Amino acid sequence: MTATILDGKALAHQIQAELTEVVADFIENNGVVPCLAAVLVGEDPASEVYVRNKRRACERLGIESQLHRLPATTTQDELLALVKRLNKSIDVHGILVQLPLPEGLDAARVQSAVLPLKDVDCLNPENVGLLVQGRPRFLPCTPHGVVQILQRSGVPIAGQHVVIIGRSDIVGKPLANMLVQKGAGGDATVTLSHSRSRDLPAIARTADILVAAVGRPKLVTADMVKPGAVVIDVGINRTAEGLVGDVDFAAVREVASMITPVPGGVGPLTITMLLHNTLAAARGLQ
Ligand code: NAD
Repeated sequence: MTATILDGKALAHQIQAELTEVVADFIENNGVVPCLAAVLVGEDPASEVYVRNKRRACERLGIESQLHRLPATTTQDELLALVKRLNKSIDVHGILVQLPLPEGLDAARVQSAVLPLKDVDCLNPENVGLLVQGRPRFLPCTPHGVVQILQRSGVPIAGQHVVIIGRSDIVGKPLANMLVQKGAGGDATVTLSHSRSRDLPAIARTADILVAAVGRPKLVTADMVKPGAVVIDVGINRTAEGLVGDVDFAAVREVASMITPVPGGVGPLTITMLLHNTLAAARGLQ
């Protein structure tokens, strides 16, 4: 079997086209342009690219964006002061603090300081709590992107066994929470595996849907995939061969029924769901 490639770029394009219309309607009806403020601390090259791509996407959709650059020497108090200022600004609807932060800065404290109503990354504990309780204010961008890929590609989720590899606060944990909720996009049986899981290949082989979010090239090999499974590769690894995911794409493609590529898989959806949340935040603040 050769898997169908799930084209994240095309799906993102489709959702962005839908959002462009909704943004235009929102502006017309409210006289307010949704605005995303990005905070970039230090000079991490990957973060520079992510923030640039997010700002370009905002522009395409008619969403305003601000970039607040701070040097790597910024103190925790200076960063918190900026977040407070953005929390109060009536022109800003969504706040994105690009991670990772330079050493010495406490990301959890910063995320907790972001006003929950503007927390478009869904990392403030209040929003994480609402998500866990099944009444989300915002859906976290990468997990939401994964669910959108599955739903829009016609992959059934209800009743399926989803194995997620990686238990981070940004991807693995919130995705597991979303997939076990009742209703559309949920009702799955989820196994959340990680670096301490015993016999990961055996666990992975039980998956109808296998999601890799680890950050290790070719961690998922063909023998870890049940024939016909759907494989979603969240990983982004910079290697000598360029950007690759966590999945040994060429080999796994011969076993899976559907697979996302890297690049061009989950990444474009993550940005798109951030725009979706910025619009939702602007709506919530009216
Ligand atoms: P993280 O480093 O915070 O977490 C990695 C997780 O992988 C940890 O829970 C760890 O237990 C697990 N892990 C590590 N080694 C393992 C092993 N050998 N076997 C099983 N599990 C193992 O990473 P993160 O922030 O969740 O990101 C994961 C990957 O996804 C990275 O490559 C990152 O760049 C990428 N990412 C992509 C997007 C996107 O939009 N496509 C968004 C966020 C993150």
